[in-house]
Amino acid sequence: MPGFAARQVADWLYRKEISSIEEMTNLSKKMREILSIDYEVGLSAPINSAESSDGTKKYLYNVLNDKYIETAYIPDEDRATICVSSQAGCKMGCIFCMTGKQGFQGNLTSNEILNQFRSLPEFRNLTNMVFMGMGEPLDNINELLKSLEILTSDWGYGWSPTRITVSTVGLKNSISEFLERSRCHLAISLHSPFDDERRKLMPIQRTNSVKDILDIIRNFDFNGQTQRRVSFEYILFKGMNDTPRHIKELARILNGIKCRINIIRFHHIPGSEFTSPGMRETIEFKEALNARGILTTIRSSRGEDIQAACGLLSTLEQNKGKQS
Ligand code: SF4
Repeated sequence: MPGFAARQVADWLYRKEISSIEEMTNLSKKMREILSIDYEVGLSAPINSAESSDGTKKYLYNVLNDKYIETAYIPDEDRATICVSSQAGCKMGCIFCMTGKQGFQGNLTSNEILNQFRSLPEFRNLTNMVFMGMGEPLDNINELLKSLEILTSDWGYGWSPTRITVSTVGLKNSISEFLERSRCHLAISLHSPFDDERRKLMPIQRTNSVKDILDIIRNFDFNGQTQRRVSFEYILFKGMNDTPRHIKELARILNGIKCRINIIRFHHIPGSEFTSPGMRETIEFKEALNARGILTTIRSSRGEDIQAACGLLSTLEQNKGKQS
């Protein structure tokens, strides 16, 4: 097919939002026939959903035949954020995460990543996207980058990359590629500044240490990317990573990096001994970091009444399948 047809196809898919190849009427009949041999157009709707009293919605999708992934819709004043999954299950094994307990079941294609966005009933309200659902996005970097390209290209959905945040445990072999090939925000799951403690929480620390990741970020040239944000996600566990020692070490290791810390209150998962500190202690932790010059915010907890911790809804669905 001639090169110009690519732009026409993209225009039909991402602007005109057609639902069959037949509707691409500025392509010749012959070209439509060629396309139809290998491709089809359409959306896969979510198979289940749950709505929280705070307006957060959780959608369950069927992928890779009999696997399940979750997507969250989080409306908040003038923003509406979609939280997408990049894999079914996950191999990273973070001990506080229900998806980690499922183990790895497969990479999503860029099609399956974008389907969560495009088939969402609230698609037209969306203002922001976070890759913070099931899976480790940088462990599926090729499909991640393809989906980001479609989302941010002028021939695609035309979103500004500053509306999109990719969250990662910090895979050092992929982080530079992500920083170079996209302009989306980066969020790194930190959870402890201490090597031994982070290893217990996140096995990935054994091969991809925080020090390695911080070195990559320090050495990356952000020139001309003033809007781009690097943040560190920090789930606060009571009596574990919320002490003055942690505050001091966080301030030390992040010194000189333009970043922010995003404190997340822990969503309890079955069988976990972790709990979240109270709101007063959480605010004190935040203020102590701010006082040391690290811009710190607390992410509001959303959807607690609908199994908000990522992986819970899909685990329930999988277990149903095993019982039947
Ligand atoms: S927290 Fe993220 S990276 Fe860790 S196991 Fe869960 S889904 Fe995977």
